[in-house]
Amino acid sequence: MSIKKHLGYLAILIATISFISCVNLDAGKVEKNTEKELEIISRLHEIADPSLPSEERADLIIAQMSLKERIRFIGGYKRFFFKGYPEHGLREVECADATMGLRGHGRVTAFPMAIAMASTWNRDLMFNTGNVVARECKAKGVDVLLGPGVNIYRIPNNGRNYEYFGEDPYLAAQLSGEYIKGIQDLGIMAVVKHFAANNSDTDRHRMNSIVDERTLHEIYFPVFKHAVQDADVKSVMTAYNPVNGVSASENAEIISVLNDTWGFKGIVMADWESVYNAYDPFVAGLDLEMPGPRFMNARNLIPLLNKGKITEDQLNNKVKRILTACLDLGIYDRPALDPDFEAFTPEHRDVAMQVAHEGIVLLKNEDNILPIADTVKKIAVVGPRAKNTPSTGFGAGMVPIPSDAKVDFYTGIKEAAGPGVEVKYTSPTSKFAKEADIVFACVGFSGWLEMESMDRDWEMPKSNLRVIKKAAKNNPNTVVLLTVGGGVETESWINDVKGVVHTYYLGEPRGTAIADILYGKVSPSGKLPFSMVKEYDDVPGTKNYLAKGKIMLRFPRLALNSKVLRQIWDCHYEEGIYMGYRHHDTNNVAPQFEFGYGLSYTTFEMDNARLSAKEISSDDTLTISVDVTNTGAMAGAEVVQLYIHDVDPAIDRPVQELKNFEKVFLEPGETKTVSMTIYKAALSYFDPELSDWKVSEGDFEARIGSSSRQIKQTLSFSCRD
Ligand code: BGC
Repeated sequence: MSIKKHLGYLAILIATISFISCVNLDAGKVEKNTEKELEIISRLHEIADPSLPSEERADLIIAQMSLKERIRFIGGYKRFFFKGYPEHGLREVECADATMGLRGHGRVTAFPMAIAMASTWNRDLMFNTGNVVARECKAKGVDVLLGPGVNIYRIPNNGRNYEYFGEDPYLAAQLSGEYIKGIQDLGIMAVVKHFAANNSDTDRHRMNSIVDERTLHEIYFPVFKHAVQDADVKSVMTAYNPVNGVSASENAEIISVLNDTWGFKGIVMADWESVYNAYDPFVAGLDLEMPGPRFMNARNLIPLLNKGKITEDQLNNKVKRILTACLDLGIYDRPALDPDFEAFTPEHRDVAMQVAHEGIVLLKNEDNILPIADTVKKIAVVGPRAKNTPSTGFGAGMVPIPSDAKVDFYTGIKEAAGPGVEVKYTSPTSKFAKEADIVFACVGFSGWLEMESMDRDWEMPKSNLRVIKKAAKNNPNTVVLLTVGGGVETESWINDVKGVVHTYYLGEPRGTAIADILYGKVSPSGKLPFSMVKEYDDVPGTKNYLAKGKIMLRFPRLALNSKVLRQIWDCHYEEGIYMGYRHHDTNNVAPQFEFGYGLSYTTFEMDNARLSAKEISSDDTLTISVDVTNTGAMAGAEVVQLYIHDVDPAIDRPVQELKNFEKVFLEPGETKTVSMTIYKAALSYFDPELSDWKVSEGDFEARIGSSSRQIKQTLSFSCRD
């Protein structure tokens, strides 16, 4: 084995140890005592009448708390709790990760990864998903869900892309926004994370994201802004990384955008162990240090108060924000456990299954090799991800599958096969694979290769690439099933195979869901929420990133020594707003599969596009309608995507940007009219000179299509003051 390979494995090991050392894999197992909590609640009701507004109630509680108690309250407790004060009517409040379900709480529903959720382009489904996770929180006595993770997909290497909603700010904002609404609808707090410009996990405490103001506002902020202003999220978690030289947890500039510009009133919470001193985060606007008061504690804060460097008002404001957010959601007025809810129910698992069905993306389907035809009698399943198919990447988002519910790809395909069909797990070069009617090559990463606290390579492990090559050489009817959290190198093998299906990591439903798609029980409708490039260099963000092959070697520091963590190094977001399809479409780079792309087993037509008006002015809206028909033989769903092109921009702008979308389900022959509305603000850009958004006047095109490159109808309109 080469030294490089040894070093690679060593790096993975160190990253894993460092990850495990800084993150509790299991949240605190604390018995919930409902009777005791009811007593605490009646105390709360004596102190702060439930009929009063939350802010007033918070003031009444604060008036009871000593200085030391208030200081202690702004630091986490037992790693995953907000500190309780029974005597002041405050029970302990438990937090748990995150987007794909409830981590560390036994038998729960394990959803497909957020990147697969984003591939559904289905707002209602995202609301339902958030709602199911909230129901499971209630069943397990958890009040705060440390998700959704919403960082933008900037480079394929980010070890946590799988936990997030893809490259487009509008899509990510819409879907995660619905997820947040679904969570908070049941009184569970959502924590949107990680604010901001946290787009890589390598050396995550020290990699300094250097991003200009326009890029922050147009690309990396909108998803957080939407969470605050549209979804009313009650908490925002700051990132590990510095942004423009200042760690996110103490970055007054970005926290002021959140609080002052967007009017956020909830909890600004630090990511675990991402606070490096007491004063800076305190004055910058951080409300809660997690997982405990390592710096923002009485020992450090009382001298600062005595010297007048910080004020008690600032402290009270933090306590008030935490209390108000919890009171708004009714958290302190109910016991943690709710006997009306259960986790891992068939209904919940059905929602996870629907996400998997709609999240799987069919990338290539030459000769209509899929769905599996009735004539197929021999199926070979090969490759390292066929058995024990990974259901998740590793990290805070990891939700283990109950042991009696594990169906891997091989088992799923085998169980779904009709009578007289032989399905075998075999080697790609075996006689069976050679003679099979179809070969499924199951390849990709696993949790150990794609995980939090490190980034991953652009290419799949060599052993996986060899499986594809061998399978394809042995049998022309080879279909690749990819388990990868985003984009990956495909150029070296894609022409050798007839089919490619992007499955991401599908959580519990993985084996059954993939079989449903392969056999055509469900027609695929997933669309890529990121651009899948041909060459690594087609991702502009990789230019100032670590050199290919060096990624694994830049492992995070084990030490939580603040001095070491302060030795930052710069990562310039030199591409600015031109990332993903914004770059490809503007600079004529052909992707392997473009943003918004995904095949179906049926066909759709889009016709008769029309506008509600030819002009949009002042606070107007404009509605774009189009008739969509399923012209094929199978029921299916199409995602109608609306891109806006500024014909004569006043400032350099991407050639087109997604501004709305709608998913529509159609029986064969059925037509439905899809209407999408845009506000005038959707035409605006962030003007760096004004340091504010500016509506662009002039002529525009509304481009309606089934992907960013398959535009079916174009309409012209103008924008006037
Ligand atoms: C992750 C967060 C997570 C927290 C608590 C951190 O390492 O970055 O996303 O919520 O741990 O588990």
